[in-house]
Amino acid sequence: MCGIVAYVGNRRAFPILIKGLQRLEYRGYDSAGVGLINNNKIITYKQAGKVSDLLEHVGDRDISGSIGIAHTRWATHGPPNQINSHPHSSSDGRFSLIHNGIIENYASLKKVLENKGHHFKSDTDSEVLMHLIEDVYNNSLNGVEDKEDNRLFKAIRIALNEIIGAYAIIVIEEGNKDEFYAARKGSPLVIGVGNNEYFVASDASPIIEYTNKVIYLKDGEVASLNKNKDVVIKTIDNKKQSPYIEELEQSLESIEKGGFDHFMLKEIFEQPKSIVDTMRGRINPKTNEIILGGIKDHESRILAADRIIIIACGTSWHAALIGEYLIEDLARINVEVEYASEFRYKNPILTNNDIVIAISQSGETADTLAALEIAKESGALTLGICNVAGSSITRETSGGTYTHAGPEIGVASTKAFTAQVTVLTLFALRFSQLRKTVERENYNFLIKELTAVPGKIEKLLALNDNIEKIAKVFKDASNFLYLGRGFNFPVALEGALKLKEISYIHAEGYPAAEMKHGPIALIDDEMPIVVIATRKENYEKIVSNIQEVKARGGKLIAIVTEGDTEVKEIADYCIEIPKCFREIAPLLTIIPLQLLSYHIALMRGCNVDQPRNLAKSVTVE
Ligand code: GLU
Repeated sequence: MCGIVAYVGNRRAFPILIKGLQRLEYRGYDSAGVGLINNNKIITYKQAGKVSDLLEHVGDRDISGSIGIAHTRWATHGPPNQINSHPHSSSDGRFSLIHNGIIENYASLKKVLENKGHHFKSDTDSEVLMHLIEDVYNNSLNGVEDKEDNRLFKAIRIALNEIIGAYAIIVIEEGNKDEFYAARKGSPLVIGVGNNEYFVASDASPIIEYTNKVIYLKDGEVASLNKNKDVVIKTIDNKKQSPYIEELEQSLESIEKGGFDHFMLKEIFEQPKSIVDTMRGRINPKTNEIILGGIKDHESRILAADRIIIIACGTSWHAALIGEYLIEDLARINVEVEYASEFRYKNPILTNNDIVIAISQSGETADTLAALEIAKESGALTLGICNVAGSSITRETSGGTYTHAGPEIGVASTKAFTAQVTVLTLFALRFSQLRKTVERENYNFLIKELTAVPGKIEKLLALNDNIEKIAKVFKDASNFLYLGRGFNFPVALEGALKLKEISYIHAEGYPAAEMKHGPIALIDDEMPIVVIATRKENYEKIVSNIQEVKARGGKLIAIVTEGDTEVKEIADYCIEIPKCFREIAPLLTIIPLQLLSYHIALMRGCNVDQPRNLAKSVTVE
């Protein structure tokens, strides 16, 4: 979690850092801070709250300086107050550090350092790392070895050898306004290379305005970034690396709100395009053949696989469940879906005949990465479905397929989810052809249905005003129940998650038939129930479930297929989705649920883009 930005060059650093923090605020937003070098001294401003609170705190104080570091925090160690916000300085104030991640062995390191006379101001693990670097700098170096290897560069590398955990750090040094150091392991870090200037950030969004040349630092690497020199990269065990400069393809518009009030709404409305982008070039328009470059080389293993295990967290886990229904139904391969955080610690049984698919929007989800490690060790084939190019999961897997949803800034995932489901549909259809489990005619129908989805979503988005009216009726509810069956069961889970994430209303998703085994006890005339009752997906069964709800006074919001008459007679409110095959339904039924959550959250005065306690990219366990 958390966002970090740094700049060294000839421009004023402060505005670049603040703008960068605002772009990264989706990653963490409980406190923020900036460190600048001004007249050879490090000046630090920190504040609890958002970047706007930091700006207010800085007011008209001195913000000059052309080198600086900045941080927006998502607290893991110690409450989100001013003292715990980053940057953290060394005892003598000579160095200052920002850190994203968790130092797992911070407690034992802290004890050792305290015994050596170090005093700590904050509760954070990050300050311990700063002091460790200072301690190595002062006590454990045998002089500077060569010009590229100044004392601090070396001290950082030695100190990082002591660290267990995850970090992306940047360190500045008093008196050195030309250079800083950046290192990472397990937390993302991108270096932007300009003319006599460097930018560093947790993702490329603070950088793209200035340069499209980037270097993705790898785990265990430390970079020395001097504005007058080429970048120098070494591993923490002192092996020099050749920097690989890549060209960034993102555009500035893709990370701005483009006329919408919120990123979430913009991203909901982008879904027709993001799904087209995700399918683009992957379906041959003449033959309907699906071509997935990232898995092509592994198709013989997929053909022979005993089972597929999909590991994910949060919304990606819901996409994974839809993937299970799709792949089992179409390709007849046994699929298991696992929470990455459970999988990694449960001593899983894996063989080299298994295929493990990791799904993560950011490609940096800590639990998913760790689960992937376990899968790799067992010899299973590992594939990734990620949205962020060059992210850790994309590098750690043998193959995979990008979702081309574009940057997703709203913390509650919308377009990344539908892009993941699109990729999983492509997987299921491709696997079905490899394993000859779906007849050609049906396959062609399914392709037609899939490519019709963006147009159908356009139709659904036109219902926005109606959905807003329904939201008005239910905005003060304290609980919501979401019910669905079959392919729409994971959609019920995702609909409930969306609502609780951004409106803080307690909501639960259930398979509709399970309602009788417990949740039915909750139903009274105060309780809104969202039922996904589209045609062909156990329709008659779900109509009976709806009757059961109605009989107990529950207020029904039903998602039905256009032309429906039966449910319409019973439900209090209906939202119609265009006719589609049941395999395709989740890509449509989720859209009204996203809009419903958005409007309810907005009417309750919640910050829809940055809900409390959440962060976009969960890079801690
Ligand atoms: N562990 C650090 C802290 O609690 C960094 C958290 C973050 O990545 O924002 O301050």
